[in-house]
Amino acid sequence: MLVLTTPAQMLEYARAVKAKGVKIVFVPTMGFLHEGHASLMRLGKKRCPGGDLVVSIFVNPAQFGPNEDLARYPRDLTRDRALCEREGAEVLFLPTAGAIYPPGFDTFIEPGKIATLFEGAIRPGHFRGVCTVVNKLFNLVQPDLAVFGRKDAQQVAVLKQMVRDLAIPVELLVGPTMREPDGLALSSRNVYLNPEERAQALALNDALREARALIAGGEPRGDAIRRRMAEIVGRQPLARLDYADVVDAASFRTLDTLTGDCLLLLAAKFGPTRLIDNEPVSIP
Ligand code: AMP
Repeated sequence: MLVLTTPAQMLEYARAVKAKGVKIVFVPTMGFLHEGHASLMRLGKKRCPGGDLVVSIFVNPAQFGPNEDLARYPRDLTRDRALCEREGAEVLFLPTAGAIYPPGFDTFIEPGKIATLFEGAIRPGHFRGVCTVVNKLFNLVQPDLAVFGRKDAQQVAVLKQMVRDLAIPVELLVGPTMREPDGLALSSRNVYLNPEERAQALALNDALREARALIAGGEPRGDAIRRRMAEIVGRQPLARLDYADVVDAASFRTLDTLTGDCLLLLAAKFGPTRLIDNEPVSIP
């Protein structure tokens, strides 16, 4: 596995590979890798056999708010490197913040409506930072296929819109959410949870499961589903709910009556740690 650190090295590699007719599969991450990230690498390799797998690790300052966890975001490059190696990555791209945002950097991508809702409302500027860095990474890595996790469902919706609107020549592939055996969605931020918070955070998955059961039982009302999810999370003394909602999977519009492809959405803080989770549901 090659470890590249500068944008120039990355672009040179990408051009050389593509000149040979080899495809590039890309998994962008912020590191502290887990089985969720590994599953995206495997999915990409499977979809594009013979392609080169490029994994990036970049904790993107532009997508963190001033009171968020940028400075203490967990890091373990030795372990991350071993995981990428194990998954057969050809390249690990580790740019510095100074290389991505050199002095004088002054151009950002401004995503539209979807980026103003939910995560975008609570984290102003978050998706602007995501779109800007993903676009820059796409330019350097030149991927044919880029793989993202449904764990960050709104991010996927915002990026799909960006790729469509700006005619970015890349295919996006979305992988399912990997979970711990007890149902907690894998996240690099889970490491912040103390045992009590960790136990109470299971309420997110419980709420999604209960909501799915309600829907399977024929409940069509968005309100009833929202209330049930909020109640389950609200029972936990350390939980502070940001939102519990059921939305249209494409537009993220809140649904009064469930129809078509929907998404159950949850975000809550457990102690100081903010977690998000979601599940897709289809109404036939
Ligand atoms: P991050 O390192 O948190 O920025 O995530 C990098 C990529 O991994 C994003 O596309 C995430 O959606 C995805 N991801 C994060 N957690 C999971 C998970 N539990 N299962 C599948 N994909 C995930």
